Amino acid sequence: MLKSYPHAVHRDGHTHTEFCYHGSGEKAELYVAQAIKSGFGMYSLTEHTPLPSQLSRQIPNGPELIAELAMPDHELPQYLGMAEELKAKYKSQIELLVGLEVDYIPGMESYTRQLLDNCGNRLEDGVLSVHFLPGKNGWRCVDYKPDDFKDGLIDYYGSVEKVYEAYYEAIEQSVEADLGPNKPRRIGHLTLIHKYQDIYRPQDPDCCRDTILRILNKIKEREMELDFNVAGLFQPACNEIYPSDWILREAYRLGIPMVYGSDSHRVEHVGRGYDAFQETMRSLAGSGVKAALE
Ligand SMILES: [Zn+2]
Ligand SMILES: [Zn+2]
Repeated sequence: MLKSYPHAVHRDGHTHTEFCYHGSGEKAELYVAQAIKSGFGMYSLTEHTPLPSQLSRQIPNGPELIAELAMPDHELPQYLGMAEELKAKYKSQIELLVGLEVDYIPGMESYTRQLLDNCGNRLEDGVLSVHFLPGKNGWRCVDYKPDDFKDGLIDYYGSVEKVYEAYYEAIEQSVEADLGPNKPRRIGHLTLIHKYQDIYRPQDPDCCRDTILRILNKIKEREMELDFNVAGLFQPACNEIYPSDWILREAYRLGIPMVYGSDSHRVEHVGRGYDAFQETMRSLAGSGVKAALE
């Protein structure tokens, strides 16, 4: 069953495995060994779920791209079995949580709900992310490549601001969506749409501020959490944590729990940026921004 876990513990809440075909292919066991070595006490395996064939048909280059982005349907039970085995094997050294990174795809909620209904009894943690938006000639993956972002999304919506608006609209829907009792509790990399911000920057620095504030309030109302995802720090055209500073401050003020996520796609990513997480949490605690929590 999915639930909240204690926040004091040295924890990584967002990681990938050999079931991710845009990662390094290294076995999850190697990631786990690295996590133990780095002093983590809790570690969630949150592999990307299989994607609906409907999406694959509506994406330029669909089958090849989807094969890179997510495991095929038949591998999901193998992935869960692998995660459960590791959990048992390492239980005296680290608490592994069996989880998934679930895509919220607007309009395809019934697929996602079905998937979660089918394997929910084996899930202990999860991240809910938006990676896909409608774009030129069908759907586009928002974090695939800068050229694709420009061609498939900016040119389609008309401006960077409009792409951001569409993205946050999808995020808001993801928070509100009824995906059943096994819906992930944590919103993944809330500002992933900033991945190419140094190349395609919105002219309006306050772009989507009101929508984001509304989203944070909805996250709070539903007692959901935020993925403090450091992957953006290491993206050459992003250079910031997902979510960005002012959002972290607002989230802290609202008392929304934030869980460090390395979003590791290779073993050497495990634990990176944890110092940035600790530093941010310390400075928020000392900043006079009052947390509503506890
Ligand atoms: Zn990935
Ligand atoms: Zn993701």
